[in-house]
Amino acid sequence: MSVFDRDDKEYDCYHGDVFYDVWRGGGNPDAVDYDRTTRDYYNGFSSGESASNELHRQRRIHESVRERRQAEEYERQLQYEQHCEEQQGQSPRCDICGQHEAVTGVNGYGVCSQECANVATTKETS
Ligand SMILES: [Zn+2]
Repeated sequence: MSVFDRDDKEYDCYHGDVFYDVWRGGGNPDAVDYDRTTRDYYNGFSSGESASNELHRQRRIHESVRERRQAEEYERQLQYEQHCEEQQGQSPRCDICGQHEAVTGVNGYGVCSQECANVATTKETS
């Protein structure tokens, strides 16, 4: 067995161990950066150290993605609320429930839904 064969085996083993430790640590083995673990290997890090570096890196990416999503969600919520306020200022309310935007008129009442339309019809006849 040549030196290279042995090295290759160790090298494969090393990556296997890193993948396993990442997986066991709750990370995503598929997202392991092969180039980085190779560098760790040649820099003399143990597979465990390399795995924890990888986990750290993945968590950081995960965190930043989550923070960005939260920011986007917040932005959307703000826009939605502003949209609602504009709607409340501009659109006529349902005359029956007063809760929603009136979409049609029934017997002189602005109504938002079939339910309110039915009530409006009852009002007209009674
Ligand atoms: Zn209504």
